[in-house]
Amino acid sequence: MGTMQGAAFINGEFMAAVDARISIFDSGFVGGVSVFDTLACWEGGLFKLPRHRARFERSAHAAMIPLRCGGEELEAVIVETTRRSGLRNAYVQAIATRGRRPTPSMPSHEPTLIVYAIPYVSIWSEEKADSGISVIIPAIRQWPAAVVDAKIKNFNRMHTHLAKLEADRANADDVVLVDDRGHLTESRGANVFLVRGGTLYSPQSGILEGITRETVFEIAEELGIPADQRDLTPFDLYNAEEAFLCSTAGGIFPISSADGRRVGEGAIGPLTRAVRERYWQRHLSGPDVTPVFD
Ligand code: PLP
Repeated sequence: MGTMQGAAFINGEFMAAVDARISIFDSGFVGGVSVFDTLACWEGGLFKLPRHRARFERSAHAAMIPLRCGGEELEAVIVETTRRSGLRNAYVQAIATRGRRPTPSMPSHEPTLIVYAIPYVSIWSEEKADSGISVIIPAIRQWPAAVVDAKIKNFNRMHTHLAKLEADRANADDVVLVDDRGHLTESRGANVFLVRGGTLYSPQSGILEGITRETVFEIAEELGIPADQRDLTPFDLYNAEEAFLCSTAGGIFPISSADGRRVGEGAIGPLTRAVRERYWQRHLSGPDVTPVFD
């Protein structure tokens, strides 16, 4: 067994990732009361650090989970944890929970703040970066906003776990969840885009406000590709010229089929390729990048 690489920060203390531990009575574990955010460090630079930090704060605010630090101080902790990992390509996560409960049913007043940096993780297998992944629309639905607003980036993932089991049984790689109205929402840990009539579309509701999704809209504008958000259905996905999933953990990933229907040419298309290329370029230099190792 290899040693886990990486560094961690828990409530003010830095340590090796392998030594990071929290209580079994932590509300993040016992009650699923946790919010988080995931960042990528690419070639030594953290991508869109202030945007991720701000989204993490919005999730924590909505869930009323107090953060022991915020703003620039929180950004400095994220940078320092990444620096201590020594990893130039890292998967960096910040997590906040309501902390250890005095008894399992009582809320704690000492929240837990965790940051860790480990070797970069992608949701999808790199072998399929050009050939694309197969998705299904699972029977299980996305949370309605009246239950849990998908904008709160939190660790309650039972629905996508069950959705992935459906995908496994169907021999598919991943899922796109629909909401109660049958509108496309998002995947597990990723947003979705499709191309119709040369325009990029992404669902407009029932989704996490993905930073990669936001970046795709910025790139579309840069490249002169029309892009919009709107209600979309499985029909739109089946008949798309191209479609892709997008996430901090994997970037831009083409969809080759949906529910057994070939999507577009059944492999990465020209718009997806152009967006992907620009997406990774933007990780190397420019205003989105916070250098870690200077
Ligand atoms: N949707 C969900 C449910 C997610 O958990 C994530 C990321 O983990 C995304 C979308 C993609 O968001 P981002 O592009 O900010 O990584």
